Amino acid sequence: QDYKTSEKAWWCPGCGDFGVLAALQKALVELEIEPHNVAVVAGIGCSGKIGNYINAYNIHVTHGRTMPVALGLKLANRDLTVIAAGGDGDGYAIGMSHFLHAMRRNPDITYIVMDNRIYGLTKGQTSPTSQTGFETKSTPDGNLERPVQPIQLALAAGATYVAQGFSSNQKQLVRLIKGAIQHKGFALVNTFSPCVTFNKVNTYDWFKEHLVDLDEVPDYDPHDRVAAMRFVAEHDGLVTGLIYQEPESIPFEEKLPGLGRRPLAAQDLRPDKEKLQQILAQFR
Ligand code: SF4
Repeated sequence: QDYKTSEKAWWCPGCGDFGVLAALQKALVELEIEPHNVAVVAGIGCSGKIGNYINAYNIHVTHGRTMPVALGLKLANRDLTVIAAGGDGDGYAIGMSHFLHAMRRNPDITYIVMDNRIYGLTKGQTSPTSQTGFETKSTPDGNLERPVQPIQLALAAGATYVAQGFSSNQKQLVRLIKGAIQHKGFALVNTFSPCVTFNKVNTYDWFKEHLVDLDEVPDYDPHDRVAAMRFVAEHDGLVTGLIYQEPESIPFEEKLPGLGRRPLAAQDLRPDKEKLQQILAQFR
């Protein structure tokens, strides 16, 4: 099973999203998860097309709403491997509040953000992760705002698996996605995925020059949240690898009282008639 579909990817030649797609497909193959047990929830934007190219269940949701749909899926069927995917605009602008609440709840969902620091689908406007001073059609005199720092935000919000990849470092990205899927709880894999058409600053070469690879930092401890925050801040968020993982993470759905282990569709959810009569009697 290779997880490929017959649909030809619509992205511009050289787009970083090709690398993310290839890494996700490889991770699923290596984990030997059957396609009927995988659901991809994709947001709006160039990256949101990813679900069309993976042979699994796919829901293409409205802008910024990958998190609530992914959570609903997971609660309805815990046997599903639920993967949410989208861009920096989808996740860190309109989807920001869902993102924060998903992290503090900690459902067993993998969230892959293809971060190219620009809005590509709408032809090149400043996004939440665009750097201060970045010039686009929407900010011709340079971006006045400070960028969202997704990794620091995730660490501060209590995310239990925080990783960052680069679409051209396939080996590392496959490993990070596999780790995210295997992690019991919410897993963020923010991935630098260059937009070759509209972002002429944050190019492949720019990332290669600026990224610090944690695989080459021998004494880095991915189980120390505070140290992780300090390290990432010191390197302006430009760090790839497994940044933090909580070893004893318990997913949200396992703590919910009364939610059966089996998929909702396989459970008898009809109310107990006798109990219902007793409750109604209290209001007579
Ligand atoms: Fe990729 Fe940018 Fe083209 Fe969109 S516009 S497909 S993000 S290269």
